[in-house]
Amino acid sequence: MKQTYFIATMGCQMNEYDSEYLGRLLQEASYLAAESPERADLVLINTCAVREKAEQKAFSFLGRMLSIKKRRPAMVLGIMGCVAQKQGKSLLEKYPGLDLVLGTRELGRFRDILEELRTGTSRVAATELARDPAPALLTKGFFQGKVTGSITIMEGCNNFCSYCVVPYVRGREVSRSPREIIREARYLVTEGAKEITLLGQNVNSYMHRENNARFTDLLRALQEVEGLHRIRFTTSHPKDLSPELILAFADLNKLCSHIHLPFQAGSDRVLEAMNRGYNRETYIDLVGKLRTVRQDMAVTSDVMVGFPGETRGDFELTLELIRRIEFDGLYSFKYSDREGTRAARFGEKIPETEKLARLSELQELQKRITLKKNKEMIGKEELVLVEGRSRKGNQLSGRTSNNKIVNFNYDKKYIGFFVKVIISDARANSLCGTKAEPAG
Ligand code: SAH
Ligand code: SF4
Repeated sequence: MKQTYFIATMGCQMNEYDSEYLGRLLQEASYLAAESPERADLVLINTCAVREKAEQKAFSFLGRMLSIKKRRPAMVLGIMGCVAQKQGKSLLEKYPGLDLVLGTRELGRFRDILEELRTGTSRVAATELARDPAPALLTKGFFQGKVTGSITIMEGCNNFCSYCVVPYVRGREVSRSPREIIREARYLVTEGAKEITLLGQNVNSYMHRENNARFTDLLRALQEVEGLHRIRFTTSHPKDLSPELILAFADLNKLCSHIHLPFQAGSDRVLEAMNRGYNRETYIDLVGKLRTVRQDMAVTSDVMVGFPGETRGDFELTLELIRRIEFDGLYSFKYSDREGTRAARFGEKIPETEKLARLSELQELQKRITLKKNKEMIGKEELVLVEGRSRKGNQLSGRTSNNKIVNFNYDKKYIGFFVKVIISDARANSLCGTKAEPAG
């Protein structure tokens, strides 16, 4: 009988990409995907360490898996992702039921590791950070029928924002070769993808020695990929947002009208303490330029409240920036200490209750803005790439170029196609529409 696997994925899209990658490797090694971890022969937990809450979630899931393993000792249990990288081998010592600790840069060695786990009785900790990204894996049929795909184009981070654990758990920036990325894009297109999202901690810092390729060179090469209709990318760093990238939005019609551009704080004093490398004015200026080249440009962002030393005045500046920019959407977080980072050692920590109050004030404000921005779409004719059925299942659901979800009534045979839709109503998280004319 075939062995089965289950991968639980937490955290960002890069973790999702990694989980998919290992899923393909496992299927190539004759494993079958299991519906739940309860009966799986191999369980992997792909973890996030960016905030304390994410780390707690990883450990509580690990606890549940360890108790399953008590009942079924033959199950192979592994932890991967940022928590695995951060805690390393010590996890094997702490949890005797754990068989594998797989670091963020060790995916390329997974085949060998799997062999080791299968044959031997030994447990494995592989947490080398200096390794190159894993090679492209172009398993035929794996993505068949998927309308959108993603490709990790670079890994790691050199920025060392004072609050952030990413540079410690994802290593230094390494970009994948443009040739390999284009090959992977072509493969996804042959599998059926119409849209591809390029992933990286700072995608716009992408740089590769092959022809001195920069991020915009990559975008221009992807523009030429036949059958690919839409290109997205995430996450970009404001300090590396070059004039060339702004120009690319003017030139490249496949590039979607959306940018996720984290600002983190609206006060220059806080931005400085965060080591972000830009100030409030520069950020406002960048958004202005982007909106000039693309009038329908949606801007989303990440922001944090309660950074050590953040005064009420600093926080007001964050609110004021939000009002000024009017983000289409915002991911907002309470600052949390991450061991080993500089900010963890900063004084003037903000009490948890105050952080919570600031967060809900900010979220209330953003809720109104998101709805306002969504309402501005009413009456517009939009080209929607239909991704599947709506959440409730009774409609089709897709996205506009500026990344808004649109639900509308139409025939399911249009899943995977572009449909012209007139936006008829706006909700907090999605738009409603009616079909304007048959699919193109
Ligand atoms: N590379 C991206 C962000 C990666 S982490 C960038 O530079 O913008 C994703 C988000 O988590 C960050 O944008 C930040 O808002 C949040 N984050 C990171 N460290 C955090 C911490 N210690 N506490 C709370 N939020 C944090
Ligand atoms: Fe973390 Fe800053 Fe790097 Fe983003 S740029 S991953 S916030 S250190």
